[in-house]
Amino acid sequence: MKALVYYGTQDMRVSEIEDPQVKEGEVLIKVEACGICGSDVHGYLGITGRRIPPMVMGHEFTGTVSALGEGIEDVSLGDRVVVYPARFCGRCDFCKVGLTNLCINRTIFGVMNVNGAMAEYVSVPKENILKLPENIDFVKGTFLEPLSVAYRAVKTAGDILNRNILIVGAGTIGLLILQIVRLGGARTVVITDINDARLEIARRLGVNLTLNPDREDIKASISESIPDGIDLAFEAVGSESTVNQA
Ligand SMILES: [Zn+2]
Ligand SMILES: [Zn+2]
Repeated sequence: MKALVYYGTQDMRVSEIEDPQVKEGEVLIKVEACGICGSDVHGYLGITGRRIPPMVMGHEFTGTVSALGEGIEDVSLGDRVVVYPARFCGRCDFCKVGLTNLCINRTIFGVMNVNGAMAEYVSVPKENILKLPENIDFVKGTFLEPLSVAYRAVKTAGDILNRNILIVGAGTIGLLILQIVRLGGARTVVITDINDARLEIARRLGVNLTLNPDREDIKASISESIPDGIDLAFEAVGSESTVNQA
């Protein structure tokens, strides 16, 4: 099959690699759409060490079931699915209480040396697939993974009804947090980013105030527009300076 192989820092090429083997309990997914995570970009740039070449990235993906491994019953060929990208063992203490995201034996498709979905096919455990509702297309479906990251952040933060909220960073996660807190009844939402195109998307999504720290004094602008201050801040960039700012 064809895959976009990561060979090393700033070196990714479409190559012919072996088709994945469909093991017992797995289903073969024909990839229809795959998101590019910020962590994939960092991997490509060689910043994080969390992509070990040669490997295939891609952990935000949707597709159709194109083959069934042994022992698969309630899945049909052609099913439209989105994939939970963490392969978990089902036996460790975390898995036993349902915290499969903390599995001590977990591996993630498209991370470290495990091949992911920037390829024609990926074979995944049946437990990792969720059927896509008819009204969600393959591209929108790829947002399930980043959306769950944003949703958990908001859930962890507690009550957001009528709160004044600051989101530092208007990338994918920041923009998803924005949509969740608006639906949750936040009173005022402020978002900051140094990228004006992203701030424009935030305005279209209904943010109350956008600030670009390259041009504006964040603290002064917030005290001026929101006299009673910020109740909750979300950091969605991942750098030391923005963590301190939040
Ligand atoms: Zn990601
Ligand atoms: Zn486990």
